[in-house]
Amino acid sequence: MHTCRNCNQSFQTELALELHRDTCKNGELFCQLCGDRFRERDATQDGWHYDCPNEDCEGEGLKEDLYHVDDVRTATH
Ligand SMILES: [Zn+2]
Ligand SMILES: [Zn+2]
Repeated sequence: MHTCRNCNQSFQTELALELHRDTCKNGELFCQLCGDRFRERDATQDGWHYDCPNEDCEGEGLKEDLYHVDDVRTATH
């Protein structure tokens, strides 16, 4: 069983999880340093300063290390 870390939904296959992660509403932000996705509210307290919620990652700053998934998607296509 593969579980989405953002919304805790479970999937039978890793592929199904991968597909879900692209559309998961709870994975709004993407960290370039660790490659993880997380909710916007997990990365910021005040909507101004953004930090990667992973303790062992030093990613910070919206459009510096952290990006909105939608921005990344449109930029790469
Ligand atoms: Zn999810
Ligand atoms: Zn990170």
